[in-house]
Amino acid sequence: MSRGTDAGARCDVVVVGGGAAGMMCAAVAGQRGRRVVLVEHARRIGEKIRISGGGRCNFTNVSTGPAHYVGLDPGFAAHALREYTPRDFTALLRRHRIGFHEKHRGQLFCDDSAVAVVDMLRAECERGGVRWLHPCRVHELRPGVGGFELDTDAGTLACARVVVATGGLPVPAIGASDWALRLARGLGLRVQPPHPALVPLRLADADLRPLASLAGVSVAVRASCGAQDFDEDLLFTHRGISGPATLQISNYWEAGRELRIDLTAGKDLAALLRESSRGSRQSLLSLLAQFLPRRLAQVWLERQRLDGSRRAAEVAGATLQELARSLCAWTPQVTQTEGWNKAEVMRGGVATAELDPRSLQALRVPGLHFIGEAVDITGWLGGYNFQWAWASAQAAARAL
Ligand SMILES: Cc1cc2nc3c(=O)[nH]c(=O)nc-3n(C[C@H](O)[C@H](O)[C@H](O)COP(=O)(O)OP(=O)(O)OC[C@H]3O[C@@H](n4cnc5c(N)ncnc54)[C@H](O)[C@@H]3O)c2cc1C
Repeated sequence: MSRGTDAGARCDVVVVGGGAAGMMCAAVAGQRGRRVVLVEHARRIGEKIRISGGGRCNFTNVSTGPAHYVGLDPGFAAHALREYTPRDFTALLRRHRIGFHEKHRGQLFCDDSAVAVVDMLRAECERGGVRWLHPCRVHELRPGVGGFELDTDAGTLACARVVVATGGLPVPAIGASDWALRLARGLGLRVQPPHPALVPLRLADADLRPLASLAGVSVAVRASCGAQDFDEDLLFTHRGISGPATLQISNYWEAGRELRIDLTAGKDLAALLRESSRGSRQSLLSLLAQFLPRRLAQVWLERQRLDGSRRAAEVAGATLQELARSLCAWTPQVTQTEGWNKAEVMRGGVATAELDPRSLQALRVPGLHFIGEAVDITGWLGGYNFQWAWASAQAAARAL
């Protein structure tokens, strides 16, 4: 796809970033008759699509709505999400004969490889006559005659409009950059501070040490932070916690906020233990292992300094009550996230208050649009981030 272009020539639109949002936007703008140049600095285009969803790309979620997003004003996303829906994207996939299936809670995945989605977007760009500058770095963007001038490794581009689709900071090794955020700040636009999100969390030593042997164990939990909770699986790791429950709640966690984990996923464990222990001949460990993975039950009893071999029926009601409470209201101390290398998305970005929700155009810099992950709209785990990339790209493209 790498294709040289006469960088000095004028075009209508320059899209910076050949990822999910950038390719979608360039393709649609091109198909609407705009002369589009797409600039991508990484060696491979659409690399996050390729590695997403375990190589099968969870490209959307059938139930997408603003409630599945975080940011200072998630309602900002409503217009774009309404105008370009999961059905629109699946219709595009069907036109390209790409098979897909629903996995879990509305999550749609490719039947085969995520590469099919990259190839589809590439083909759509081709249909729109999009010209690529790739690999090519962008440097300074300046207001120019009738629009903007953009310095790149391949020379200066002059254009009427620029779409910034350079994504967020996760996984710097495959091309992530803070270009959008630096550009926005340089232009005096507000930026919500970026944080790693959909990311595993590290726990304080005091919480981690008693659970060290649980690395690799998964358990259904209810994870809560503030008013938000998720019923999903949690995975213990060598440094803390991961798995869908952790990734989901990480969108809401920040330093100083309490994380609450109900390791019984909402069961009334106190009542269950009380009833099941009555007249029972089984050990406390066997009793608890009816409701939790056995390894977790064992380690938790040790953590609580309880003898798992005791007959459950002989354990005092108050002790069972306290055991249940400790499991239902675990509040481990999170020290930090696993950072940009492990995060799936960036929370924060160009403030939505600076943008028009219909066109993603900067209100104070006409002709400049920000789309995709660079904007302060962050989706839950489950295909919501790609749906925002497609929808915001379409909204901008319709306005170009
Ligand atoms: C491991 C992983 C798995 C994921 N799985 C899923 C999933 O299954 N479902 C889901 O919805 N979301 C998933 N995501 C999130 C999803 O990939 C992103 O939200 C989405 O790709 C954002 O699209 P974007 O176009 O805004 O940014 P990107 O897709 O990141 O594209 C940005 C592009 O801009 C380029 N770029 C950056 N800076 C510059 C510059 N200065 N000049 C030129 N080019 C530049 C980058 O190289 C990149 O190609 C996953 C993310 C990761 C890291």
